[in-house]
Amino acid sequence: MPESRGERASRCVFCEIVAHRLKAYIVFEDDATMAFLDSYPFTRGHLLVVSKRHGARLTDLEWEDQMALIRTLDELCRRAERLSPDYNLALNAGANAGQVVFHVHFHIIPRYGEENPFLVSPRPALDANDARALVVELSAP
Ligand SMILES: [Zn+2]
Repeated sequence: MPESRGERASRCVFCEIVAHRLKAYIVFEDDATMAFLDSYPFTRGHLLVVSKRHGARLTDLEWEDQMALIRTLDELCRRAERLSPDYNLALNAGANAGQVVFHVHFHIIPRYGEENPFLVSPRPALDANDARALVVELSAP
């Protein structure tokens, strides 16, 4: 059931993070976007970049919010390159594409050369100590 543009979904976990009602390891925030560590990272430094406005898909967002997301992606890709020059940038649109949280988000997944290239490895939970170190490393402009 699609939601109207800009409407905040009840019980949307990313809207809760955007509102600072749910804890996340946030590395970037501006008026329109936010980036934080994935709770079940594929690799060290796996980031999620979200629009603050709720929409299930990129195409549910207004143009200005899409552009804000792209601007933030550029910044966060540069920061991810501090961890590794190689990374995946991915957006899953729809359940059949692997989307789990239906609030549009991009994944930035640093690649270190030893992981399964197809992103199907088991995903252990984010380590809190490492998460704090990553926030320091990735929060600096
Ligand atoms: Zn949401």
